[in-house]
Formats: sequence, C-alpha cells, structure tokens
Amino acid sequence: MEKGKQIYEGKAKRIYATGDADVVWVEYKDDATAFNGLKKGTINNKGSLNNRISAVFFEMLESKGIPTHFIKLINDREMLVKHIDIIMVEVVMRNIAAGSLAKRLGLEEGTPLSRPVLEFYYKNDELGDPLINDYHALAINIATREQMDKMAELAFKINEILVDYMDKRDIILVDFKLEFGVFKGEVILGDEISPDTCRFWDKHTKEKLDKDRFRRDLGNVEEAYEEIYKRLTATAN
Ligand code: UDP
Repeated sequence: MEKGKQIYEGKAKRIYATGDADVVWVEYKDDATAFNGLKKGTINNKGSLNNRISAVFFEMLESKGIPTHFIKLINDREMLVKHIDIIMVEVVMRNIAAGSLAKRLGLEEGTPLSRPVLEFYYKNDELGDPLINDYHALAINIATREQMDKMAELAFKINEILVDYMDKRDIILVDFKLEFGVFKGEVILGDEISPDTCRFWDKHTKEKLDKDRFRRDLGNVEEAYEEIYKRLTATAN
C-alpha cells in the first residue's frame, strides 16, 4: 500500500489517500492545541506516542467486539485505517467530574458521578464544538436516530471496557471523547484514543497523565504520555 496525496490536515493528524478508496493513511503530528485552538504548542514525540497508544486501544477494543477503523500500524507515527464518513458529533463519556462538566454543574473536579454521563457535542470548530442533545443532532441532520443510538450503545460499552482495562494499570479513566464514522453502512469507532482525548489520573497519586498537563502548563507532558504507553504495554490483558 502506498502513501498518496494528502486529503486532509487536522490539528493533530494528516490524512493521505492510498491506492484503495476504502483505506486512508494517518500520520500523527506533534502539534498540540487546546481551548479550541487558542493555545498552540508542540509536545515532543506526541505523534508517535498517540499513534502507538491508539493502536493498543483499537486492537484491544476490536478483540472485545467493538468495530473500529483501525487496520494496522505502519510505523511509529503512522497507521492505516478504514476510510469512514465521519459523523459530525463528538461523543464524550464521563465517570468523574472534570473540565467543562465540573464548571457547568458547579462540581469540584474529582467528584465521582453516580453513573456514567454521555454527552454529545457538535463537531464544528467555528462554533467551538457546542454541547448538543439528540434533538439538535436530528434537527440539523448531522446524524440519524439509528446512528445516535448506535453511538450511545457503543460509547457505554467502550467505557466499561476501558475503565476496567485502565484500572488494571492503576489508572482512573475520568472522561474521554470518541468520534464515529460510517463504513459500508455500519457505524464504527474512528479518530484516536490517547492522552489527547482522555483524562487519565494515576489511581494512587491522582497525578494527571494526559493533555491537561499541556492545557494547564503543569510540565512533564511528554513524560506523562510515555507513562501511559508504558503502562499499556507492561501488562498483557
Ligand atoms: N475532549 C477532546 N476534544 C475536544 C473536547 C474534549 O478530546 O475537543 C476530551 C477531553 O480531553 C476530555 C473529555 O473530552 O477527556 C471532556 O472534555 P471537557 O468537555 O471537559 O472539555 P475541556 O475541559 O477539554 O474543554
């Protein structure tokens, strides 16, 4: 398979065509942005770490019956994935109050939620990804009823799997964001699962091991991402 023309460049990844219309080539970048692009920077090795971390998560989720776009790793910072039509909805799952939810509901960061919270955001940079519900998504035709239901069902399943998987590695999965797409009529998981898109806290010290280190200028950002990769690969299941 060969790397063809670049078809898209996002904040964290570049996407290239391949000889196969069903397959795209993803290159993870070291660029980091936060607060809807207002804060910009570079995290050394981030592309490589997020590529490898995402591959571990995708393979593990596939093995547990979750359909994903992942095909295979090409090298440290590139992977092949199925060419999906991305659904313009960001799906956030939360187990513990943090970030925008803590703010919106007036909860102290770290407050456990009695049950997981599912949220949808309209994937639209110009609008700053506003919070929406099912009614909004259907009314502006960015997803169908069936797609919304499928994304919710998969998000809850993925949350259960990931909470358990990370707990075995002494990491609390606070919250995370997923993106889904349609491939040959089926809703499958796309994008990435990495410290850029999840909040990971060390179970014992509660140390943040994710992009909040960059957002909040906490230092040791690359080390935190490396620690996540190390813990993912140190244990087999
Ligand atoms: N998130 C993301 N991309 C976004 C917004 C949020 O990956 O554009 C992730 C974020 O890393 C966190 C979860 O979604 O794990 C919930 O984020 P929140 O709504 O608290 O927003 P933030 O505090 O990042 O503004």
